[in-house]
Amino acid sequence: MSGIRTVGVVGAGQMGNGIAQVAAEAGYQVLMTDVAASILDKARATIQKNLGRAVAKGRATQEHIDEALAHIRTDTELGALAACDVVIEAATEKVDLKFRLFEDLCRIVPPHALLATNTSSISITAIAAHTDRPDKVIGMHFMNPVPVMQLVEVIRGLATSQDTWDATVEMARRMGKTTVEGRDMPGFIVNRILMPYLNEAVYALYEGIGSVQDIDAAMRLGTNVPMGPLTLADFIGLDTCLAILEVLHQGLGDPKYRPCPLLRKYVEAGWLGRKTGRGFYPYLEA
Ligand code: NAD
Repeated sequence: MSGIRTVGVVGAGQMGNGIAQVAAEAGYQVLMTDVAASILDKARATIQKNLGRAVAKGRATQEHIDEALAHIRTDTELGALAACDVVIEAATEKVDLKFRLFEDLCRIVPPHALLATNTSSISITAIAAHTDRPDKVIGMHFMNPVPVMQLVEVIRGLATSQDTWDATVEMARRMGKTTVEGRDMPGFIVNRILMPYLNEAVYALYEGIGSVQDIDAAMRLGTNVPMGPLTLADFIGLDTCLAILEVLHQGLGDPKYRPCPLLRKYVEAGWLGRKTGRGFYPYLEA
């Protein structure tokens, strides 16, 4: 379906606020929802800060920013998404939550609306089976931070139509992104490869092979990646990393994906990384 004007975003966390920003900058009307007004206020402040940075660096004008911000509305009620042409779901990586959200969304959005999910690992086909329109459900996997990262991994469920595919790829391009097609298997492309690497770094720490700093420095300086794996895991969110590893472990049934017990321990402690102010590293600002 072409002619998308209004984009709904469910979940205003790290990913949701970035998706709302790039959608608004692309000229879409954006409606962002989350469970609490305080989260939505924080998301708007983050978008404002990120856009302000672009002006300071001369990459955008104040007019562009004012226009983008004017395109974003927020609401704590999912029902506010009633006029959306597409909804991009970016809520917490929990299977049951996503199933429930998609069931609810079907009752709210118009029949023509597409339903995209930013899930990192959960089956698009399974999510689609919880809707009245599996042909209009698709995976739209943005990378973190959304305004900076070029890639969107697009994933078809078993029933996704070609029209849904075309409209999604067109929308991603309009947001300035490059797309790749991943198959609907646990973790798709990016997390199938990334998560075992991050998990192995946590095992290396758990087994005392190196300190947090040395593991990160070894991989940064030794393999020329911009960020060490433990820094990257903190950046993604340790709860999200654990949830993705669980999906890989259960979905593929191979013990090589077993989440490291130390990762579990950190999540139990609420040390989720940058977003909670503590993960493998402490952060001054949550
Ligand atoms: P996050 O914890 O920063 O944000 C999740 C948000 O979802 C929270 O604000 C939470 O309040 C909200 N939420 C929970 N239940 C909700 C509901 N019923 N209705 C509306 N909002 C609800 O997590 P995140 O990092 O933004 O991840 C969100 C999604 O994006 C997950 O599916 C994750 O796997 C995926 N993802 C994450 C990354 C990453 O690097 N963090 C990258 C790509 C994709």
